[in-house]
Amino acid sequence: MFFLLMKKWLTWLGCVLFVFSTNGFASDALTELERAAKAVSPADGIELLNKFDLKNSKLEAEQQAKVYYLYGQLYEKTRQLDQSIASYDKGIELVKYLPITDVLIDSHLERSFALYLQSNDPAAYCVDRKQALVYARLHHNSELLAKTLTQNAFCFNEPKSIHKGIALLDEAMAIVDKNNLNVNRKALIYNATGSLYRQVGLHRRGYDSFEKAYQTWQSINDIEDMFNMQYNMLSEAISLGHWDKASQSVEAQFSLAAMSTGDNDMLFFSHLNAGRVALRTYDYDKAVLHLEKAVSLNHTTQEKYFISSNYLYLGLAYMRSGEAEKAADMARTFKQDDSFAANQKAMLLQADAIIALDEHDPVNALNKLFQVIDIEREINQSVIDNEVISLSLDHNSALAEFENELLGNRLAINELSLASVKDKERINELKLSLFFIIVTVLFCIVLFLLISRRTLKVRAQTDFLTGLANRGHTFKKGQKIIEKTIKKQQPASVIMFDIDDFKSINDRYGHHIGDLAIKSVSKRTRRWLKKHDLVGRIGGEEFLIVLENTSQTEAYDIADRLRHNIEEQFFQFDDVTVELTISLGVAALNEHTTTLIGLMKQADDALYRAKFSGKNKVYLAAECA
Ligand code: GH3
Ligand code: MG
Ligand code: MG
Repeated sequence: MFFLLMKKWLTWLGCVLFVFSTNGFASDALTELERAAKAVSPADGIELLNKFDLKNSKLEAEQQAKVYYLYGQLYEKTRQLDQSIASYDKGIELVKYLPITDVLIDSHLERSFALYLQSNDPAAYCVDRKQALVYARLHHNSELLAKTLTQNAFCFNEPKSIHKGIALLDEAMAIVDKNNLNVNRKALIYNATGSLYRQVGLHRRGYDSFEKAYQTWQSINDIEDMFNMQYNMLSEAISLGHWDKASQSVEAQFSLAAMSTGDNDMLFFSHLNAGRVALRTYDYDKAVLHLEKAVSLNHTTQEKYFISSNYLYLGLAYMRSGEAEKAADMARTFKQDDSFAANQKAMLLQADAIIALDEHDPVNALNKLFQVIDIEREINQSVIDNEVISLSLDHNSALAEFENELLGNRLAINELSLASVKDKERINELKLSLFFIIVTVLFCIVLFLLISRRTLKVRAQTDFLTGLANRGHTFKKGQKIIEKTIKKQQPASVIMFDIDDFKSINDRYGHHIGDLAIKSVSKRTRRWLKKHDLVGRIGGEEFLIVLENTSQTEAYDIADRLRHNIEEQFFQFDDVTVELTISLGVAALNEHTTTLIGLMKQADDALYRAKFSGKNKVYLAAECA
C-alpha cells in the first residue's frame, strides 16, 4: 500500500517538475528535484531523475551538470559504479570548458570516489583528485579547496610519500583557520591526517591526530563522530601496545554509547573493543564477558566484518580460558565469512590453529601459530621502521623550520644588500654631483682664466684712451697683414695721420678736451673704415691705418675722404665746439718697400710733407720719391 502511494507521489512530482522546467522555472525545478531525490531511497531517487526530462528542460549547462552529479551520487549509493562514473562523465563534459564551477570540482572528486570504490587503485582514482585540485586552486571557494586538498592527501599513502600528503592537509588546515571554516571541516582534516598516518603504520601520530579530531567534534557535541574517533584512537593504542590509553578509550566509548539516543551500534562496538583490550591484557574472563555481550548485540550493527572479527576474538578468549571446544566453534563461525581478505592473514591463521587443535592436529596448529609469530615479527619490524620514518618526518619538519629560518635570514640579507645597494647608489649620486660641481668650478676657473687672459691680452694690446690697437700691437699686427698680403700677391697700403696743431687745442680747451678730441677722432676713424682695416694709435695724436688689398690710389681716396670728414664735421664736447683737421701720408707696397716699417717711414715722410705744405692735406709717398 505504502509502496503504491509512494509511486503515485513520485509520478506526480515528476509531472510537477516537468511543468516547472517547461514553464521556465528551470532553476527552481532543479532545487526541487535535488530536494526530492535526496528525500527518498537512492533507487527511488534515480527513478525520479529518470522522469525528469533533462534534454527538454531549460536548465543551463551548469544546472544540467548538477543533475548528472545527483545521478552519480545516487548510483554510487546503489553501488552501480559504472553508471555513477558515466553520470559524472556527462556532467564534467558539459561544464569543463566553461568558467570553473563548484559542480565541476565536485564531479571530479565524486568520480574519483567511485573509481576508488571500483578499483582501490590510486593510479585510477587520483587523476581526478589532482585535476580537481588544479581547478580548486583557481576557484574562489575555500571550503571546496580544503575538501579537495584533504582528498588529495590520500593519494600519498605510502611511507615514502606521506610527507606530501601531510603537507596538503597542513595547507587545508591553514585555509580552514584563515577563512574560519566549519569546525566539521577541521575535524575531517584531523581525521584524514590520522587515517594517513595509520595507513603507513605511524600509529603514534595516528593516535594524536584522531584525538585532535575527537576533541574538535567534542566542541560541537557530535556524539557519533566522537565515538568513531575513540574507536580509531583505540585501534592505534592497541597497535602501539598502549593499554592505558586503550582502556581510557573503551571507557569513553561506553559513556558515549550511553549518551547517544536512537538505534546505533555503539554498544556493540564498546563491548567488542573492551573484549579486545581485555584479551590483549590477559584478562580472559573479562574478555569473554564483553565479547559474548557483543555477540548478543550483533543485530544492532550492519558491520559484517566486525561481527566476524568478534567471533575470532571470542574464540581466542575461550581458548585462553581453556575452553577449546567453544573456541573451535567460534573459529569455525569466523571462517564462515569468506570475505576476509588476505591482508588479515594472521587472524585467519589463528582461527586455523584453533580448528587444527580441535581436529587433533597439533603439528598443523603449531605451524599455523609459528606463521602468526612470523607475521607479528614482520609487523614489529615495520613498527620499528615506521618509527624511523616518524623520526625522519620530525627531522623534515625541523628541516622545514630551519629552511624557514634560513629563508628569513636570506630575506634579511637581501634587505641589507638592498640597503647597501641603495647606499652605493646614493654615494654614486653624491660622487656624480661632486664631480659635476668640480667640473663646473674647474670650467668656471678655466673660463675665468681664459677670459682674464684674453682681457689681459686685449688690454696689453689696446690703447687705454681710445680703445684702438696700441703702438706695439699696431706694429705687430700691421706687419702680419703686410706679410699675408704679400703672400696673396695683393696690394696693401698704410695711412699715417696726425692731428694738426693739437698743442693749441690743449692750450685753448684744456687737456681734458684734448683727450676727448683724440677719442672722438679715433671713433670717427674707426667708423669710417672697414672692420678688418687696422687702426692703431702710435703716438699722442698720431695714428696708423693698415689697409689690406688696397692700392695706393684707393688708399689716397680713403685718406682724403677721412681728412674731409674730420674737417667738415666739428666736434662737440658739452658746450665746447672744437674744429679739427688732420694731415695724412699714404704709402703702398712696392718692389722696394715690403715691410711695415718701410711703409711707415714712407708714410711718415709723406705726412711730414703734408704738414710742411700747410696741413690738412694728404700726401702720397710716391710723390716723395
Ligand atoms: P703739428 O700740427 O705740427 O702736429 O702741431 P702740434 O701742436 O700737434 O705739434 P706736436 O704734434 O709736436 O704736439 C703734440 C702735442 O699733443 C704735444 C702734447 O702736449 C699733446 N699731446 C700728446 N699726447 C696727448 C694726449 O694724450 N692728450 C692731450 N690732451 N694732449 C696730448
Ligand atoms: Mg700734431
Ligand atoms: Mg704730433
